[in-house]
Amino acid sequence: MHKKCFKLLAAFVSMICFTSAQAAAVAPEQLPLNEKLVRNINRQLHAGLPSKDPVKVLRAFSAKYRPALLERFLKYVSYNRQSSETEQITPDQIETAQKLYTEIKAMGLNVTLTPHHYLFVEIPSNLNYPVPVLGYSAHYDVTPGIEANDVQARVIKKYDGKPIVLENNQIIDPAQPNGAYLPTQIGKIVVTSDGNTILGADDGAGLSVLMTFMQTLAENPTRPHGTIQIVLAPNEDVGRAAEFVEETPYRPEIAFDFDGGSDGRVIVENFNARQEIFTVTGVPGHQSYAATNGYRNAWTPACELGAAICPEELMPNFSQGRAGYAELHHMSAPGGKVSMAELDIRHRGFDTKVMNDWEQYADQKAAEIAEKYQVNIERKMIDNYKNVAECAHPNALEITENAFRNAGVKINIQTARAGTTAAMFVTKGLVGAYTIFTGQNNPHNYTEWLSEEDMYHSYLLSLSILDEVAKQSKK
Ligand SMILES: [Zn+2]
Repeated sequence: MHKKCFKLLAAFVSMICFTSAQAAAVAPEQLPLNEKLVRNINRQLHAGLPSKDPVKVLRAFSAKYRPALLERFLKYVSYNRQSSETEQITPDQIETAQKLYTEIKAMGLNVTLTPHHYLFVEIPSNLNYPVPVLGYSAHYDVTPGIEANDVQARVIKKYDGKPIVLENNQIIDPAQPNGAYLPTQIGKIVVTSDGNTILGADDGAGLSVLMTFMQTLAENPTRPHGTIQIVLAPNEDVGRAAEFVEETPYRPEIAFDFDGGSDGRVIVENFNARQEIFTVTGVPGHQSYAATNGYRNAWTPACELGAAICPEELMPNFSQGRAGYAELHHMSAPGGKVSMAELDIRHRGFDTKVMNDWEQYADQKAAEIAEKYQVNIERKMIDNYKNVAECAHPNALEITENAFRNAGVKINIQTARAGTTAAMFVTKGLVGAYTIFTGQNNPHNYTEWLSEEDMYHSYLLSLSILDEVAKQSKK
């Protein structure tokens, strides 16, 4: 049935090619597809299948790639790939990047490895009408905070519902938070480590999803899609995934990061994080003659400022839901001088306007206090990460919801009172990306485990998002 359907499709494509682009002598699979042709291809694809239900169509198409997902996952978790808090890049990451590069190259795709070990892949559009450039990202490192080398993965082919007992006194228990999602996996494939290391599903799962996605497109060049850009980053687990991303041409107009948990979770919003540094500069001099020598202490004005702009009601312990906070995190004396004080404030919130209002208020207070104590006060702001919701593609939510529906996966929309990798990419001027679940559970823990079914669902999403974006004609 598949064969027949693809034969029909190939015949149809070559017929169109013959009439419209014979002179160009381009192989049929390299020709751009117009909207009408895409509609026809979809009709042909659907005609040969038992149902027009998009979920069944997608699953019938994807079924043969499912085993490759798990195979790849087990291969990647066997690679040593820890990042480091102190090294720019670790030899293990360099080796992993090289292996991934070779694997992508062998698929026949156009891949670049940048000087700082980012992998970038671009798959050109095969449509003849413009749609937004779609970006996918994942990271290939694992955390340096816990044993993560020489991982011995254990594949449970049919999970039986009981606690999973590992070495090193580690238990994943359905009755405990670390196994609370396990009861949904009875009869399904679950992967754990042997208990002596983490598993590395964070982000071996996202890596496997995107590599299999690339394989799928390389093997199915007539599947309609716009331009796709993929970036695989190092150093994510030490907070530096965005550090050199500008080395790549990664500039999608709509983007998704494959590094989320399980159960259809998609993070569509996160905190903006700003570090606000106020420097209070007094005047040095001998305290005993301060009444006449111009000496000005910096610390009393600094304390007054801290209490005024980070009052009790803005402290993190009073913040939940969509409320942000402004926390006086610490104060320091640069160079150990009494005439200089630095206030380091952690400022978090979902709404940029509310945060800008706080800054305006804080600057006004600083000016009043500077005048009162005759000191100088300056503020410096560092954007640590930004809320992806404020800079995502305008149709991102609708596209995501449709993609989940067409993949037959229940969407579980989440808001993160924290940052995401995508939120760090935004500080580099990139579009805000949602974080898609990949089947990871208990990351950075000996009890880390993978739901194979969720990883497969994540892969389905990578294709159904692609299909949705192909419908977003910019004309
Ligand atoms: Zn991760």
